[in-house]
Amino acid sequence: MSAIDDLPPLRDAIKRHGLTPKKSLGQNFLLDLNLTGRIARAAGPLEGVDVIEIGPGPGGLTRALLAQGARRVIAVERDERAVAALAEIAARYPGRLDVVAGDALTFDPRPHLSGNRARIVANLPYNIATALLVTWLTAEPWPPWFDRLVLMFQREVAGRIVAAPGSKAYGRLSVLAGWRSEARILFDIAPSAFVPPPKVTSSVVELIPRADPLACERRALERVTQAAFGQRRKMLRQSLKSLGTDALALLSTAGIDPTARAEDIPVAGFVALARAFADANG
Ligand code: SAM
Repeated sequence: MSAIDDLPPLRDAIKRHGLTPKKSLGQNFLLDLNLTGRIARAAGPLEGVDVIEIGPGPGGLTRALLAQGARRVIAVERDERAVAALAEIAARYPGRLDVVAGDALTFDPRPHLSGNRARIVANLPYNIATALLVTWLTAEPWPPWFDRLVLMFQREVAGRIVAAPGSKAYGRLSVLAGWRSEARILFDIAPSAFVPPPKVTSSVVELIPRADPLACERRALERVTQAAFGQRRKMLRQSLKSLGTDALALLSTAGIDPTARAEDIPVAGFVALARAFADANG
């Protein structure tokens, strides 16, 4: 473990603030400064960038982001015990760390930003990770207020985010992520790197928002992917019946083989279907 600043070791802060990890808050802390540094570096050069961090916990990644040069870190944490520990980091980096005590699911970062480039970097609490990602990927207006997401997920979820058509993991999340971003897995982190170790391997994922995603109504895209993947083993001519619109007509307009299955259809195909669905219900 190498020193990145002159703050006391994270284990120390955890002890002094009684931060025994709580399962209910998805608390698996990363205390290895080499790894937190690696994640911060993966977030790219941070000079001039405002970073939103979800769930800083004792602040390992927070410290790495600040040491890496982030202009400001706005860190949202639900656990009051961690908020006290983070105050020490804020004192070490005056004016650069804002700790917001609250729930990330209802937190709107936009009023906290100062017009600089903004980025979201987090070791996410796994129980709300997908919900948060969907919120960010469905942001309006688009392009969104952030220029990059660097996030840690369970490897299985990371696999679904980056999955390509034809694979078992390909589903609604892959279509949404592929429609609005370019997503890739950067590296994996073993359970043993966390305190306490989770049951599964984690992956750090990078998502770069597309400046110009294929035009379609997000809600229509959600409806068609829900119908298609809701019965993923069925042919689309069958699964799309649940939309309550002439499924064969939609597939014909979109130029898609009615006997294909959801997992065979690339993002552009779902966008074409969403457009046809929106027009038919227009
Ligand atoms: N970033 C720290 C690290 O890497 O060691 C902690 C990561 S831990 C996986 C997830 C963190 O998210 C915990 O500190 C937990 O208290 C916090 N958390 C859980 N639910 C939250 C919520 N709804 N809003 C904000 N923070 C939350």
